[in-house]
Amino acid sequence: MAKINDNYLKLKAGYLFPEIGRRVRAFAEANPAAKVIRLGIGDVTRPLAPAVLKAFHAAVDDLGTVENFAGYGPEQGYDWLINAIIEKSYQPLGVSLKTEEMFISDGSKCDCANILDIFAMDNIVAIGDPVYPVYNDTNVMIGRTGDADAKGYYKGVVYMPCNEANGFIPALPTEKVDIIYLCFPNNPTGVVASKAELKKWVDYANANDAVIFFDAAYEAFITDPSIPHSIYEIEGAKRCAIEFRSFSKTAGFTGVRCGLVVVPEEVMGTTASGEKYSFNKLWLRRTTTKFNGASYPVQKAAAAVYSDEGWKQTKEIIDYYMENARIIREGLKEVGVTCFGGVNAPYIWLKTPAGLTSWDFFDKLLTECNVVGTPGSGFGPSGEGYFRLSAFGNRDNVIEAVERIKKNLK
Ligand SMILES: *Cc1c(COP(=O)(O)O)cnc(C)c1O
Repeated sequence: MAKINDNYLKLKAGYLFPEIGRRVRAFAEANPAAKVIRLGIGDVTRPLAPAVLKAFHAAVDDLGTVENFAGYGPEQGYDWLINAIIEKSYQPLGVSLKTEEMFISDGSKCDCANILDIFAMDNIVAIGDPVYPVYNDTNVMIGRTGDADAKGYYKGVVYMPCNEANGFIPALPTEKVDIIYLCFPNNPTGVVASKAELKKWVDYANANDAVIFFDAAYEAFITDPSIPHSIYEIEGAKRCAIEFRSFSKTAGFTGVRCGLVVVPEEVMGTTASGEKYSFNKLWLRRTTTKFNGASYPVQKAAAAVYSDEGWKQTKEIIDYYMENARIIREGLKEVGVTCFGGVNAPYIWLKTPAGLTSWDFFDKLLTECNVVGTPGSGFGPSGEGYFRLSAFGNRDNVIEAVERIKKNLK
């Protein structure tokens, strides 16, 4: 009989969102008249920007004509999309990238998972806590860890607790690590890192021959002009950092699917025999072998985000979500709730009132306010006592949810 990949058995059953779903369903069945408002999951709700939709349609029509039909494209993405991203999203930051350093994909979750292919198994990884669960679980699946302990920490991984004391920005690891996951603006905490903060990480990585995986999925939500959008704004980052971006939250592509990875040519690793080797070369080899590119209409739609109209419309949608974030944050503060995030990110990370556990507060909010959020403990042990509200909802729902919460906590 074929043997399974036993590493998958080390994973804790996908618990967080199924458990939320179970509790919400049970409540809704018992209270059919209640209007439940969901501010839980990290999915967008606004439709695509009109300019993006138009380009998407036009590209689909291209496929129906002999002249403009598009078959296989370059596995790593079309130059016209890559160059538009470099010009519009990186050059204004003072970051110059070569076309060959960017790879277009069908989303960032896959990229964060797939990148592990080009790293040796005996690298030590450092992961934040709380965290986007993909970083941890993909390392478990590939076999880099032992079993989880009672807290949910896997043997072999260096966890970096993020809490109120450190402003939800982890301290540098005290042991030597080879791969560091950083996500700013952060999901779930909504916290951002300053240039000085990121410089510390870049210096650590360069001094220790480590590689930083920088997840910038929420960079478009940054409102403070002093906060870096890309890790390459930091001196020395091109020698040690791989950056992930996604059109999902930025442009409403959670269903459309498009993302990108930047692997600068200078990021080097060592071979088993000790020679330096470029990760860019390996990632190109991996991409051309295992991937056949994001679809042509999707890349056309993504390119339209960088047109003058598309850019403006996309920005308006982001502003809509950030106004939701402001309403949530300020409403909660009015009734004395301690909140983090929500200024440069579409997530509000709140401290549960009266010392409730994350799940107790979840139940209180569901049953007393009919509002669904996400228990912080679901993102890692250090998330206990915290709770995430998402700003991706519809405005009227956000206002109503905040009113209900305010009334309840007053
Ligand atoms: C939503 C999200 C992504 C993007 O995932 P896609 O696969 O591109 O939809 C990446 N990282 C984090 C932390 C996210 O929350």
